[in-house]
Amino acid sequence: MLSHPFDDDKLREECGVFGCIGVEDAASFVALGLHALQHRGQEAGGIITHHPESGFQSAHRFGLVRDNFTKQGVIETLPGRIGIGHVRYSTAGSKGATQIRDVQPFFGEFAMGGAAIAHNGNITNADAIRRELIERGSIFQSSSDSECLIHLMARSFQKTIPERMKDALRRAEGAFSVVAMTRTKLIGVRDPLGVRPLVLGKLHDGWALASETCALDIIGADFVREIEPGEMVVISDKGVESMRPFAPQKSRFCVFEHVYFSRPDSFFGGRSVYETRRRIGVELAREAPVEADLVCPVPDSGTPAAIGYSQESGIEFALGITRNQYMGRTFIEPSQQIRSMGVRLKLNVNRALIRGKRIILVDDSVVRGTTSQKIKEMIIEAGAKEVHFRIASPPTAWPCFYGVDTPDRENLLAARMTEDEMRDHIGVDSLKFVSLNGLYRAAGEAEGRDNACPQYCDACFSGEYPVAPHDMLERGFQPKYAAE
Ligand code: SF4
Repeated sequence: MLSHPFDDDKLREECGVFGCIGVEDAASFVALGLHALQHRGQEAGGIITHHPESGFQSAHRFGLVRDNFTKQGVIETLPGRIGIGHVRYSTAGSKGATQIRDVQPFFGEFAMGGAAIAHNGNITNADAIRRELIERGSIFQSSSDSECLIHLMARSFQKTIPERMKDALRRAEGAFSVVAMTRTKLIGVRDPLGVRPLVLGKLHDGWALASETCALDIIGADFVREIEPGEMVVISDKGVESMRPFAPQKSRFCVFEHVYFSRPDSFFGGRSVYETRRRIGVELAREAPVEADLVCPVPDSGTPAAIGYSQESGIEFALGITRNQYMGRTFIEPSQQIRSMGVRLKLNVNRALIRGKRIILVDDSVVRGTTSQKIKEMIIEAGAKEVHFRIASPPTAWPCFYGVDTPDRENLLAARMTEDEMRDHIGVDSLKFVSLNGLYRAAGEAEGRDNACPQYCDACFSGEYPVAPHDMLERGFQPKYAAE
Protein backbone atom coordinates (compact mmCIF):
# COMPACT_ATOMS: atom_id res chain seq x y z
CA MET A 1 0.00 0.00 0.00
CA LEU A 2 3.01 2.32 0.12
CA SER A 3 2.75 4.86 -2.64
CA HIS A 4 5.71 5.97 -4.72
CA PRO A 5 6.56 8.35 -7.58
CA PHE A 6 4.89 6.18 -10.22
CA ASP A 7 1.64 5.90 -8.35
CA ASP A 8 -0.51 8.94 -9.09
CA ASP A 9 -3.76 7.05 -9.53
CA LYS A 10 -4.88 6.57 -5.92
CA LEU A 11 -6.38 8.84 -3.35
CA ARG A 12 -3.42 9.52 -1.10
CA GLU A 13 -3.60 8.63 2.55
CA GLU A 14 -3.59 11.63 4.79
CA CYS A 15 -1.38 11.53 7.84
CA GLY A 16 -0.81 9.32 10.83
CA VAL A 17 -0.47 10.43 14.46
CA PHE A 18 0.85 8.61 17.49
CA GLY A 19 1.57 9.53 21.11
CA CYS A 20 2.46 7.76 24.35
CA ILE A 21 2.95 8.62 28.01
CA GLY A 22 4.28 6.81 31.06
CA VAL A 23 6.88 4.60 29.35
CA GLU A 24 10.67 4.67 29.39
CA ASP A 25 12.23 5.69 26.10
CA ALA A 26 8.94 7.01 24.72
CA ALA A 27 10.63 8.08 21.45
CA SER A 28 11.33 4.44 20.50
CA PHE A 29 7.66 3.57 20.98
CA VAL A 30 6.61 6.62 18.97
CA ALA A 31 9.00 5.66 16.15
CA LEU A 32 7.60 2.12 16.07
CA GLY A 33 4.03 3.40 16.11
CA LEU A 34 4.79 5.77 13.23
CA HIS A 35 6.48 2.94 11.35
CA ALA A 36 3.22 0.94 11.57
CA LEU A 37 1.35 4.03 10.28
CA GLN A 38 3.76 4.66 7.42
CA HIS A 39 1.08 3.79 4.84
CA ARG A 40 -0.69 7.00 5.93
CA GLY A 41 2.19 9.25 4.87
CA GLN A 42 5.66 8.74 3.49
CA GLU A 43 6.81 12.29 2.75
CA ALA A 44 8.16 13.14 6.18
CA GLY A 45 7.87 12.47 9.88
CA GLY A 46 8.55 14.12 13.20
CA ILE A 47 8.79 13.27 16.90
CA ILE A 48 8.73 15.53 19.98
CA THR A 49 9.44 14.31 23.51
CA HIS A 50 9.84 15.90 26.92
CA HIS A 51 12.28 15.10 29.71
CA PRO A 52 12.29 16.97 33.05
CA GLU A 53 16.02 17.80 32.70
CA SER A 54 16.42 18.48 29.00
CA GLY A 55 12.96 19.89 28.32
CA PHE A 56 11.27 19.50 24.94
CA GLN A 57 13.35 17.91 22.17
CA SER A 58 12.30 17.40 18.58
CA ALA A 59 13.40 15.82 15.32
CA HIS A 60 11.76 16.37 11.95
CA ARG A 61 12.96 14.52 8.87
CA PHE A 62 12.01 13.93 5.24
CA GLY A 63 11.50 10.33 4.19
CA LEU A 64 10.55 7.10 5.88
CA VAL A 65 10.57 6.50 9.63
CA ARG A 66 12.81 3.44 9.35
CA ASP A 67 15.46 5.42 7.45
CA ASN A 68 15.49 8.39 9.81
CA PHE A 69 14.43 7.58 13.35
CA THR A 70 17.16 5.12 14.23
CA LYS A 71 18.37 4.54 17.77
CA GLN A 72 21.78 6.00 17.18
CA GLY A 73 21.68 9.50 15.89
CA VAL A 74 18.07 10.56 16.43
CA ILE A 75 16.13 8.53 19.01
CA GLU A 76 18.90 8.95 21.59
CA THR A 77 18.46 12.73 21.30
CA LEU A 78 14.77 12.42 22.28
CA PRO A 79 14.71 11.37 25.95
CA GLY A 80 11.63 11.21 28.13
CA ARG A 81 8.56 9.23 29.15
CA ILE A 82 6.17 11.23 26.98
CA GLY A 83 6.23 11.87 23.24
CA ILE A 84 4.12 12.40 20.14
CA GLY A 85 4.81 11.93 16.44
CA HIS A 86 3.40 12.43 12.98
CA VAL A 87 3.90 10.96 9.53
CA ARG A 88 2.92 13.18 6.71
CA TYR A 89 1.66 13.22 3.23
CA SER A 90 0.91 16.83 2.45
CA THR A 91 -2.80 17.55 2.08
CA ALA A 92 -2.67 21.19 3.06
CA GLY A 93 0.29 23.49 2.88
CA SER A 94 3.16 22.80 0.52
CA LYS A 95 2.76 19.74 -1.71
CA GLY A 96 5.53 17.22 -1.29
CA ALA A 97 8.51 17.21 1.01
CA THR A 98 9.85 20.65 0.23
CA GLN A 99 9.80 22.54 3.52
CA ILE A 100 10.92 21.03 6.80
CA ARG A 101 8.92 23.71 8.64
CA ASP A 102 5.69 22.10 7.38
CA VAL A 103 6.59 18.81 9.05
CA GLN A 104 4.66 18.14 12.29
CA PRO A 105 4.43 17.97 15.27
CA PHE A 106 4.32 21.75 15.74
CA PHE A 107 5.49 23.28 19.01
CA GLY A 108 4.42 26.43 20.84
CA GLU A 109 5.71 28.05 24.03
CA PHE A 110 2.83 29.40 26.12
CA ALA A 111 2.67 31.27 29.41
CA MET A 112 1.87 28.01 31.23
CA GLY A 113 4.57 26.00 29.41
CA GLY A 114 5.21 24.40 26.05
CA ALA A 115 2.88 22.22 24.03
CA ALA A 116 3.29 20.17 20.87
CA ILE A 117 0.53 19.19 18.49
CA ALA A 118 0.13 16.71 15.62
CA HIS A 119 -2.94 16.74 13.39
CA ASN A 120 -4.49 14.26 10.98
CA GLY A 121 -7.20 15.71 8.77
CA ASN A 122 -7.89 19.05 7.19
CA ILE A 123 -9.30 22.25 8.64
CA THR A 124 -11.75 23.41 6.00
CA ASN A 125 -11.90 27.03 7.19
CA ALA A 126 -8.14 27.39 7.72
CA ASP A 127 -7.77 30.11 5.05
CA ALA A 128 -10.27 32.35 6.83
CA ILE A 129 -8.70 31.69 10.26
CA ARG A 130 -5.20 32.34 8.91
CA ARG A 131 -6.27 35.64 7.29
CA GLU A 132 -7.86 36.80 10.51
CA LEU A 133 -4.85 35.77 12.62
CA ILE A 134 -2.38 37.50 10.29
CA GLU A 135 -4.47 40.69 10.42
CA ARG A 136 -4.25 40.49 14.21
CA GLY A 137 -0.46 40.13 14.13
CA SER A 138 0.28 36.39 14.05
CA ILE A 139 3.42 35.41 12.16
CA PHE A 140 3.12 31.99 10.54
CA GLN A 141 6.13 29.72 10.15
CA SER A 142 4.58 27.14 7.83
CA SER A 143 1.93 26.84 5.13
CA SER A 144 0.12 24.09 7.06
CA ASP A 145 -3.51 24.45 8.17
CA SER A 146 -2.54 22.79 11.45
CA GLU A 147 -0.38 25.74 12.53
CA CYS A 148 -3.59 27.77 12.91
CA LEU A 149 -4.32 25.71 16.02
CA ILE A 150 -1.09 26.81 17.73
CA HIS A 151 -1.88 30.49 17.01
CA LEU A 152 -5.48 30.15 18.17
CA MET A 153 -4.20 28.53 21.38
CA ALA A 154 -1.74 31.39 21.89
CA ARG A 155 -4.59 33.92 21.69
CA SER A 156 -6.90 32.08 24.08
CA PHE A 157 -7.35 33.52 27.59
CA GLN A 158 -7.84 30.09 29.18
CA LYS A 159 -5.49 29.06 31.98
CA THR A 160 -4.52 25.54 30.88
CA ILE A 161 -3.32 23.98 27.62
CA PRO A 162 -6.30 21.59 27.31
CA GLU A 163 -8.71 24.53 27.79
CA ARG A 164 -6.82 26.56 25.17
CA MET A 165 -6.98 23.59 22.80
CA LYS A 166 -10.73 23.44 23.25
CA ASP A 167 -10.98 27.14 22.40
CA ALA A 168 -8.86 26.66 19.28
CA LEU A 169 -10.64 23.55 18.04
CA ARG A 170 -14.08 25.10 18.50
CA ARG A 171 -13.06 27.60 15.80
CA ALA A 172 -11.92 24.84 13.44
CA GLU A 173 -14.22 23.16 10.92
CA GLY A 174 -13.60 19.99 8.98
CA ALA A 175 -11.81 16.84 10.01
CA PHE A 176 -9.29 16.61 12.80
CA SER A 177 -7.85 13.87 14.91
CA VAL A 178 -5.28 15.58 17.09
CA VAL A 179 -2.60 14.22 19.40
CA ALA A 180 -0.91 16.81 21.63
CA MET A 181 1.37 16.92 24.66
CA THR A 182 2.48 19.20 27.44
CA ARG A 183 5.28 18.40 29.89
CA THR A 184 3.02 16.03 31.80
CA LYS A 185 -0.09 15.38 29.74
CA LEU A 186 -0.93 13.50 26.56
CA ILE A 187 -4.06 14.85 24.85
CA GLY A 188 -6.21 13.34 22.13
CA VAL A 189 -9.14 14.99 20.34
CA ARG A 190 -11.46 13.87 17.57
CA ASP A 191 -13.68 16.24 15.59
CA PRO A 192 -17.43 16.17 16.25
CA LEU A 193 -18.14 14.04 13.18
CA GLY A 194 -15.25 11.66 13.89
CA VAL A 195 -14.20 11.75 10.24
CA ARG A 196 -10.63 10.60 10.90
CA PRO A 197 -9.82 7.77 13.32
CA LEU A 198 -8.07 7.88 16.72
CA VAL A 199 -7.70 4.99 19.16
CA LEU A 200 -6.59 4.59 22.78
CA GLY A 201 -4.30 1.82 23.98
CA LYS A 202 -2.83 0.66 27.30
CA LEU A 203 0.91 0.14 27.33
CA HIS A 204 2.41 -1.36 30.51
CA ASP A 205 1.87 1.41 33.08
CA GLY A 206 1.36 3.97 30.36
CA TRP A 207 -1.01 4.89 27.55
CA ALA A 208 -0.88 5.33 23.80
CA LEU A 209 -2.97 7.20 21.22
CA ALA A 210 -2.78 6.23 17.55
CA SER A 211 -4.52 6.70 14.23
CA GLU A 212 -5.05 2.94 13.90
CA THR A 213 -4.98 -0.14 16.08
CA CYS A 214 -2.13 -1.64 14.01
CA ALA A 215 0.16 0.94 15.65
CA LEU A 216 -0.87 -0.36 19.08
CA ASP A 217 -0.18 -3.95 18.02
CA ILE A 218 3.39 -3.23 16.97
CA ILE A 219 4.34 -1.94 20.44
CA GLY A 220 2.40 -4.62 22.31
CA ALA A 221 -0.23 -2.19 23.65
CA ASP A 222 -3.76 -3.38 24.35
CA PHE A 223 -6.53 -1.70 22.42
CA VAL A 224 -8.82 -0.01 24.96
CA ARG A 225 -11.34 1.88 22.80
CA GLU A 226 -11.73 4.47 20.08
CA ILE A 227 -11.72 8.11 21.05
CA GLU A 228 -15.32 9.02 20.34
CA PRO A 229 -16.36 11.68 17.84
CA GLY A 230 -16.28 15.04 19.60
CA GLU A 231 -14.33 13.68 22.59
CA MET A 232 -11.16 15.05 24.17
CA VAL A 233 -9.06 12.83 26.46
CA VAL A 234 -6.39 14.24 28.76
CA ILE A 235 -4.04 11.54 30.00
CA SER A 236 -1.68 12.08 32.94
CA ASP A 237 -0.29 10.06 35.85
CA LYS A 238 -3.80 10.38 37.32
CA GLY A 239 -5.30 8.36 34.44
CA VAL A 240 -7.59 9.21 31.51
CA GLU A 241 -10.00 12.13 31.81
CA SER A 242 -12.71 12.38 29.14
CA MET A 243 -14.36 15.66 28.09
CA ARG A 244 -16.93 16.77 25.49
CA PRO A 245 -15.90 20.19 24.18
CA PHE A 246 -18.23 20.24 21.15
CA ALA A 247 -21.98 20.16 20.62
CA PRO A 248 -23.03 16.56 19.91
CA GLN A 249 -23.54 15.57 16.26
CA LYS A 250 -24.19 12.34 14.42
CA SER A 251 -20.84 10.81 13.55
CA ARG A 252 -19.66 10.54 9.93
CA PHE A 253 -16.57 8.35 9.91
CA CYS A 254 -14.70 8.30 6.56
CA VAL A 255 -15.94 5.22 4.71
CA PHE A 256 -12.79 5.25 2.57
CA GLU A 257 -10.80 4.26 5.66
CA HIS A 258 -12.55 0.90 5.26
CA VAL A 259 -12.04 0.77 1.49
CA TYR A 260 -8.38 1.69 1.23
CA PHE A 261 -6.62 3.99 3.70
CA SER A 262 -6.40 1.85 6.80
CA ARG A 263 -4.33 -1.26 7.14
CA PRO A 264 -6.42 -4.44 6.83
CA ASP A 265 -5.27 -5.57 10.28
CA SER A 266 -6.78 -2.47 11.94
CA PHE A 267 -10.18 -2.27 13.67
CA PHE A 268 -12.72 0.59 13.64
CA GLY A 269 -16.16 0.70 15.20
CA GLY A 270 -15.66 -2.84 16.41
CA ARG A 271 -15.16 -3.95 12.80
CA SER A 272 -12.12 -5.50 11.20
CA VAL A 273 -11.02 -3.52 8.16
CA TYR A 274 -10.07 -6.80 6.45
CA GLU A 275 -13.51 -8.27 7.08
CA THR A 276 -15.25 -5.13 5.76
CA ARG A 277 -13.15 -5.32 2.58
CA ARG A 278 -13.91 -9.03 2.18
CA ARG A 279 -17.61 -8.32 2.57
CA ILE A 280 -17.42 -5.57 -0.10
CA GLY A 281 -16.24 -8.37 -2.42
CA VAL A 282 -19.25 -10.46 -1.41
CA GLU A 283 -21.58 -7.53 -2.18
CA LEU A 284 -19.83 -6.99 -5.53
CA ALA A 285 -20.28 -10.63 -6.50
CA ARG A 286 -24.02 -10.38 -5.69
CA GLU A 287 -24.50 -7.05 -7.47
CA ALA A 288 -22.24 -7.66 -10.50
CA PRO A 289 -21.84 -11.35 -11.31
CA VAL A 290 -20.05 -12.44 -14.48
CA GLU A 291 -18.92 -15.80 -15.88
CA ALA A 292 -15.15 -16.13 -15.64
CA ASP A 293 -12.32 -18.56 -14.84
CA LEU A 294 -10.33 -16.65 -12.21
CA VAL A 295 -10.76 -13.83 -9.69
CA CYS A 296 -7.49 -11.89 -9.34
CA PRO A 297 -6.84 -8.96 -6.98
CA VAL A 298 -4.93 -5.86 -7.96
CA PRO A 299 -2.44 -6.04 -5.08
CA ASP A 300 -2.41 -5.27 -2.30
CA SER A 301 -5.56 -3.44 -1.26
CA GLY A 302 -7.81 -5.31 -3.74
CA THR A 303 -6.97 -8.66 -2.15
CA PRO A 304 -9.60 -8.99 0.62
CA ALA A 305 -12.42 -7.91 -1.76
CA ALA A 306 -11.20 -10.40 -4.38
CA ILE A 307 -11.30 -13.14 -1.73
CA GLY A 308 -14.88 -12.15 -0.88
CA TYR A 309 -15.87 -12.07 -4.57
CA SER A 310 -14.36 -15.53 -5.10
CA GLN A 311 -16.07 -16.98 -2.01
CA GLU A 312 -19.47 -15.64 -3.00
CA SER A 313 -19.24 -16.47 -6.73
CA GLY A 314 -17.47 -19.81 -6.39
CA ILE A 315 -14.95 -18.69 -9.02
CA GLU A 316 -11.36 -19.66 -8.21
CA PHE A 317 -9.16 -17.02 -6.52
CA ALA A 318 -5.66 -16.64 -7.96
CA LEU A 319 -2.73 -14.28 -7.57
CA GLY A 320 -2.52 -13.35 -11.24
CA ILE A 321 -0.60 -10.16 -10.48
CA THR A 322 2.43 -9.95 -8.19
CA ARG A 323 3.52 -6.76 -6.53
CA ASN A 324 7.20 -5.89 -6.17
CA GLN A 325 7.19 -5.12 -2.43
CA TYR A 326 10.59 -3.49 -2.57
CA MET A 327 9.87 -0.78 -5.14
CA GLY A 328 10.74 1.95 -2.70
CA ARG A 329 10.47 5.61 -3.44
CA THR A 330 14.18 6.34 -3.16
CA PHE A 331 15.36 3.44 -5.36
CA ILE A 332 15.92 5.40 -8.56
CA GLU A 333 15.28 8.89 -9.81
CA PRO A 334 12.03 8.85 -11.78
CA SER A 335 13.36 9.94 -15.18
CA GLN A 336 10.86 10.18 -18.03
CA GLN A 337 12.06 6.85 -19.47
CA ILE A 338 11.58 5.12 -16.14
CA ARG A 339 8.25 6.85 -15.58
CA SER A 340 6.98 5.54 -18.92
CA MET A 341 7.35 2.00 -17.56
CA GLY A 342 4.59 3.01 -15.14
CA VAL A 343 2.92 0.24 -13.23
CA ARG A 344 5.26 -2.43 -14.68
CA LEU A 345 7.79 -1.28 -12.12
CA LYS A 346 5.59 -2.40 -9.28
CA LEU A 347 3.19 -4.98 -10.74
CA ASN A 348 3.93 -8.05 -12.84
CA VAL A 349 1.50 -10.52 -14.42
CA ASN A 350 1.76 -14.29 -13.93
CA ARG A 351 1.50 -15.23 -17.62
CA ALA A 352 1.23 -18.97 -17.11
CA LEU A 353 -1.83 -18.40 -14.94
CA ILE A 354 -3.56 -15.79 -17.09
CA ARG A 355 -3.10 -17.18 -20.62
CA GLY A 356 -6.37 -18.17 -22.29
CA LYS A 357 -8.50 -17.36 -19.22
CA ARG A 358 -11.46 -15.05 -18.52
CA ILE A 359 -10.20 -12.84 -15.70
CA ILE A 360 -12.11 -10.84 -13.06
CA LEU A 361 -9.77 -8.14 -11.74
CA VAL A 362 -10.75 -6.67 -8.36
CA ASP A 363 -9.33 -3.25 -7.43
CA ASP A 364 -10.19 -0.91 -4.53
CA SER A 365 -10.98 2.21 -6.58
CA VAL A 366 -10.71 4.02 -9.89
CA VAL A 367 -9.44 7.59 -9.59
CA ARG A 368 -7.95 8.87 -12.88
CA GLY A 369 -8.24 5.49 -14.57
CA THR A 370 -4.67 5.51 -15.88
CA THR A 371 -3.51 2.57 -13.75
CA SER A 372 -6.60 0.52 -14.65
CA GLN A 373 -5.81 0.99 -18.35
CA LYS A 374 -2.20 -0.13 -17.91
CA ILE A 375 -3.15 -3.17 -15.83
CA LYS A 376 -5.70 -4.16 -18.49
CA GLU A 377 -2.96 -3.89 -21.17
CA MET A 378 -0.64 -6.12 -19.14
CA ILE A 379 -3.35 -8.72 -18.64
CA ILE A 380 -4.27 -8.74 -22.35
CA GLU A 381 -0.58 -8.97 -23.33
CA ALA A 382 -0.32 -12.00 -21.05
CA GLY A 383 -2.98 -13.71 -23.17
CA ALA A 384 -6.21 -13.25 -21.18
CA LYS A 385 -9.34 -14.06 -23.20
CA GLU A 386 -11.59 -11.57 -21.34
CA VAL A 387 -10.99 -8.90 -18.68
CA HIS A 388 -13.75 -7.85 -16.26
CA PHE A 389 -13.02 -5.10 -13.74
CA ARG A 390 -14.86 -5.13 -10.41
CA ILE A 391 -14.25 -2.12 -8.16
CA ALA A 392 -14.63 -2.31 -4.36
CA SER A 393 -15.92 1.27 -4.03
CA PRO A 394 -18.52 3.38 -5.86
CA PRO A 395 -17.27 5.73 -8.61
CA THR A 396 -15.01 8.41 -7.10
CA ALA A 397 -16.60 11.51 -8.62
CA TRP A 398 -15.89 14.23 -6.03
CA PRO A 399 -12.70 15.48 -4.35
CA CYS A 400 -12.11 15.03 -0.62
CA PHE A 401 -11.47 18.13 1.52
CA TYR A 402 -11.09 16.28 4.81
CA GLY A 403 -7.42 15.36 4.79
CA VAL A 404 -7.05 13.26 1.65
CA ASP A 405 -5.19 14.30 -1.46
CA THR A 406 -7.51 13.93 -4.46
CA PRO A 407 -7.09 15.21 -8.00
CA ASP A 408 -9.25 18.16 -9.06
CA ARG A 409 -12.75 17.09 -9.99
CA GLU A 410 -12.11 17.37 -13.75
CA ASN A 411 -9.34 14.77 -13.40
CA LEU A 412 -11.57 12.19 -11.72
CA LEU A 413 -12.67 9.74 -14.40
CA ALA A 414 -16.08 9.22 -12.81
CA ALA A 415 -16.76 12.97 -12.83
CA ARG A 416 -16.44 13.03 -16.61
CA MET A 417 -17.86 9.70 -17.75
CA THR A 418 -20.69 7.27 -17.20
CA GLU A 419 -19.89 3.72 -16.12
CA ASP A 420 -20.21 2.47 -19.72
CA GLU A 421 -17.96 5.26 -20.99
CA MET A 422 -15.38 4.36 -18.34
CA ARG A 423 -15.55 0.71 -19.43
CA ASP A 424 -14.84 1.70 -23.04
CA HIS A 425 -12.13 4.17 -22.01
CA ILE A 426 -10.29 1.55 -19.96
CA GLY A 427 -10.96 -1.00 -22.70
CA VAL A 428 -12.32 -3.93 -20.68
CA ASP A 429 -15.14 -6.35 -21.39
CA SER A 430 -17.10 -5.16 -18.36
CA LEU A 431 -16.65 -2.68 -15.52
CA LYS A 432 -18.82 -2.58 -12.39
CA PHE A 433 -18.55 -0.68 -9.10
CA VAL A 434 -20.04 -1.74 -5.79
CA SER A 435 -23.09 0.43 -5.03
CA LEU A 436 -23.11 2.90 -2.15
CA ASN A 437 -25.72 0.71 -0.45
CA GLY A 438 -23.55 -2.36 -0.97
CA LEU A 439 -20.58 -0.54 0.55
CA TYR A 440 -22.67 0.47 3.58
CA ARG A 441 -23.95 -3.09 4.02
CA ALA A 442 -20.37 -4.37 3.94
CA ALA A 443 -19.42 -1.72 6.51
CA GLY A 444 -22.05 -2.96 8.96
CA GLU A 445 -25.21 -1.03 7.99
CA ALA A 446 -27.60 -3.89 7.22
CA GLU A 447 -30.18 -1.56 5.65
CA GLY A 448 -27.63 0.15 3.42
CA ARG A 449 -27.21 3.91 3.24
CA ASP A 450 -29.84 6.01 4.96
CA ASN A 451 -30.22 8.78 2.40
CA ALA A 452 -31.89 11.08 4.88
CA CYS A 453 -29.10 10.69 7.39
CA PRO A 454 -25.98 8.94 6.05
CA GLN A 455 -23.99 7.05 8.67
CA TYR A 456 -20.55 7.63 7.10
CA CYS A 457 -18.83 10.42 5.23
CA ASP A 458 -19.07 9.33 1.59
CA ALA A 459 -18.68 12.73 -0.07
CA CYS A 460 -16.13 11.53 -2.63
CA PHE A 461 -18.81 9.17 -3.98
CA SER A 462 -22.04 11.07 -3.31
CA GLY A 463 -20.93 14.71 -3.49
CA GLU A 464 -22.72 15.30 -0.16
CA TYR A 465 -20.22 17.09 2.07
CA PRO A 466 -21.07 16.76 5.77
CA VAL A 467 -19.09 19.95 6.56
CA ALA A 468 -19.20 22.74 4.03
CA PRO A 469 -15.65 23.09 2.61
CA HIS A 470 -15.59 26.86 3.11
CA ASP A 471 -12.07 27.53 1.83
CA MET A 472 -12.75 25.57 -1.36
CA LEU A 473 -16.13 27.27 -1.88
CA GLU A 474 -14.30 30.59 -1.67
CA ARG A 475 -11.87 29.33 -4.28
CA GLY A 476 -14.75 28.57 -6.65
CA PHE A 477 -15.47 24.90 -6.00
CA GLN A 478 -19.06 24.06 -6.90
CA PRO A 479 -20.52 21.27 -4.76
CA LYS A 480 -23.54 19.20 -5.63
CA TYR A 481 -24.61 19.64 -2.04
CA ALA A 482 -22.86 20.83 1.10
CA ALA A 483 -24.08 21.21 4.66
CA GLU A 484 -24.38 24.76 5.97
S1 SF4 B 1 -14.72 12.57 1.12
FE1 SF4 B 1 -14.21 10.37 0.87
S2 SF4 B 1 -12.06 10.18 1.45
FE2 SF4 B 1 -12.80 12.17 2.21
S3 SF4 B 1 -13.42 11.82 4.32
FE3 SF4 B 1 -15.24 11.58 3.06
S4 SF4 B 1 -15.30 9.38 2.52
FE4 SF4 B 1 -13.27 9.83 3.30
